Amino acid sequence: MNIVKSSRSSSVPKSVAALDSKNSAATTNINLYQEIPNIEVSLDDFEEFALDRLKVLKKLEQLKMRHVAPEKYKKYLDPLLQKLNDPTKDWISHFVLRLAYCRSEDLRRWFLAQEVALLKYRLSQSNPGSSSNSGGETAITKALKSVLPNVHVLAPEELEPLLPKILAATPSLNMNPLQVGNGRNANSNNNIYRVPFTQALDLVQHRQVFVKKGMAYIPESKLLSLVTARFRSNLSRQLALLSAVPTTPALQRTQGFLKNVATVHAIKDEYLEQGAGTDGVQLTANNVASHVKHMPLCMAQLQMALNKEKHLKHWGRLQYGLFLKGAGLSLEDAMVYFERMFVGKDFNKEYSYNFRHMYGKEGKRANYPPYNCAKIINGNGPNANEHHGCPYKHSTVQDVTAMLNKLGIAPSKQKGIIAQQQSHNYQLACVEHFKAMYPNPPTSVYANDFGNHPNAWFKSSVKASGGADAKMTDSQTIDGKKSNVASGDVDMNDPNSVSP
Ligand code: SF4
Repeated sequence: MNIVKSSRSSSVPKSVAALDSKNSAATTNINLYQEIPNIEVSLDDFEEFALDRLKVLKKLEQLKMRHVAPEKYKKYLDPLLQKLNDPTKDWISHFVLRLAYCRSEDLRRWFLAQEVALLKYRLSQSNPGSSSNSGGETAITKALKSVLPNVHVLAPEELEPLLPKILAATPSLNMNPLQVGNGRNANSNNNIYRVPFTQALDLVQHRQVFVKKGMAYIPESKLLSLVTARFRSNLSRQLALLSAVPTTPALQRTQGFLKNVATVHAIKDEYLEQGAGTDGVQLTANNVASHVKHMPLCMAQLQMALNKEKHLKHWGRLQYGLFLKGAGLSLEDAMVYFERMFVGKDFNKEYSYNFRHMYGKEGKRANYPPYNCAKIINGNGPNANEHHGCPYKHSTVQDVTAMLNKLGIAPSKQKGIIAQQQSHNYQLACVEHFKAMYPNPPTSVYANDFGNHPNAWFKSSVKASGGADAKMTDSQTIDGKKSNVASGDVDMNDPNSVSP
């Protein structure tokens, strides 16, 4: 892919018009991105295509986090996917995001999960037969052939002698032997595909297909998992390889964009305006502590550390200070609050500039937004005596368990949270924490995007608990236990009351 300086002249690169129609990567219905695009793309398109794709991937992640049924994905995804309808745009955007997301294991894991989800969605939407343009092939079979060129569709005469064994080994298969014998199976959804068993290990391992002489016989209904497994392993390998490739001069000028795209872009800065995330709460220097009950673990952890150590190091001040700013704490109240908390420090001399800078009153006077989850999770983790970051990513299971205990989350409710943490699904762990706090939140809460942004978690918690002045009732306590943090009864002078 060559990046050219020219500004955008159309929504699709100029060279696309000249793209060879035989270039299968751009012209198959379902692209498994086997080929690297070798075309010119302007810097503007390079960035715009990637951001359009990122919006789709983020939406997929949100839908999964909110447990939206896959049948309902269409309503949310199709408007975003329309922007990727052009095969070449889709192709380029995938490879730009590969460059951005190959940089760390977490980024690779996230990108892989969302790309596989996108492929599954697209395959599920491809109506067998309707997407074909030759020989009744479906999008799935075409995609399969692009990753497994030696796949063979059994002819009726090949299928007939094997059918009893295939039916016995594949209980879910519903096939009428008479139809097969009459050759009426050729274009049905019950085609059987023969591939080397090593290319269908997942299905073989779970005894879902018939295997004979090293060949696996796979019904059409099982192809989806075969294609996605193949896509996943290819992409995973290629991302790992790409991470070790030094940057080329051609890509040099995109480095800033690539570095930021995974953490900053395509994330709504809806909490940029101070107080936009408050939903009626008026945070002041005197009531920050009583709102710890509305904070996700990353921010509760910083408040706990502040209580205990009477200080926060640079990244902790930044993460927590910007969060409180987004939650509505004014600069004046922030100065009063942190000066009060930083016991034994010359606050005005050492830290006041720092807080004024966060609020855009010093330096380049930028209106810095609060950090979103992607930025916190993929940012630098805490060193000794630091408490910033995402606990699900940067702390041990033991530390998270200890924090959840202090927050009064019952062990039975912790299981789901810890399981997600151990599966490296940090944001899903955070969603589980929210669900442990509020098992039956109002439906409007799910529009708030919690699990993607600490301020959204805060806003959702305020809403779920009934508003700004809501106190936890017995029914809202966790398994009948009332937490000192959740109830707001935090003794600001007791370092052990909520220690990390
Ligand atoms: Fe904070 Fe996001 Fe981690 Fe939750 S997932 S603890 S909101 S960084």
